[in-house]
Amino acid sequence: MALCVRGRACQFYPAMARPDPIPLPALPQIDTWVFDLDNTLYPAACNLFHQVDVRIGAFVARLLGMAPDAARVVQKDYLKRYGTTLRGLMVEHRLDPKDYLDFVHDIDVTRVPANPALDRALERLPGRKLVFTNGTVTHAERIMERLGVARHFEAIFDIHAAAYVPKPEPAVYDQLLRDHAIQARRAILFEDMARNLKPAHDRGMTTVWVRVDSPWAQPEGDRSHIHHETDDLTEFLQALLGHSGTAKPPPARD
Ligand SMILES: [Mg+2]
Repeated sequence: MALCVRGRACQFYPAMARPDPIPLPALPQIDTWVFDLDNTLYPAACNLFHQVDVRIGAFVARLLGMAPDAARVVQKDYLKRYGTTLRGLMVEHRLDPKDYLDFVHDIDVTRVPANPALDRALERLPGRKLVFTNGTVTHAERIMERLGVARHFEAIFDIHAAAYVPKPEPAVYDQLLRDHAIQARRAILFEDMARNLKPAHDRGMTTVWVRVDSPWAQPEGDRSHIHHETDDLTEFLQALLGHSGTAKPPPARD
C-alpha cells in the first residue's frame, strides 16, 4: 500500500513503528491546496533533474570559460556557500537570473506522462490549488500541460516571484501566504523535499511528504514537521477524498 500515514502500516514502516497517529486532514478544514512541482506533481522516476543538472554544469562552464570539471568545482562551492548555484552566480558574477533559469529549464519534458487520475482527483478537491516551486512559471506550465492538470491551478508562485530566494527560506513562505491571501491553518503543502515542509509546519500549514529515494530529499533528525507521507500523490488524494466523504461529486460526462 503506497499511502502511509503515521501510525499505520505501509511498505516502509511496520505497524506500531510510528506512534502518535495523525488522521488524514478533514477536507472542510482545507481550502487551499499547495503543491511543489518537481518530483511531486510528477514522479521522480521521470528523472528530469538529471537533465537540469547537466545544463547547470554546461551553463557555469560557459559563463566562467572553464573546462567542465573545473566549473563543477566552482558550482558546488557556490551551492555550498550560497544555498543555490543561481544565488552564487548572482552574487559573484552579477548574473541575470532570467538567462540562467531559461537555459537550465530548457529540457525534454516528454518523459512526463499524462496523469488522468490526478486530473480527476484535483477536480474533486474543494478549494484553490496553487503551485509553489523553486523553478519557473514557464517550466511549471510545460510540466502541467504534459500531466493534463494545468486548468486546476489558480496561480504558480515561482522563483521569480520569490525574488530568487528558494525554499526552504522561511521568508518565502510568508510571502506566498501574504501574496495569495492564504490562511496557513486552512492550507496544505505537498512536497518531496522533507526540509521544505518545516517552514510550512511552523506557520500552521498541514504538510504531506511525497517520498522519493534521493538522499537530499530525506528528513534529517526530528520529523515532527511531517504530518503525512505517501509514495504516490494521486493515491493519497484519492484516499483523502474517499475518507472525507465531503468532496464535490465528479463532473457530469457527456
Ligand atoms: Mg520538488
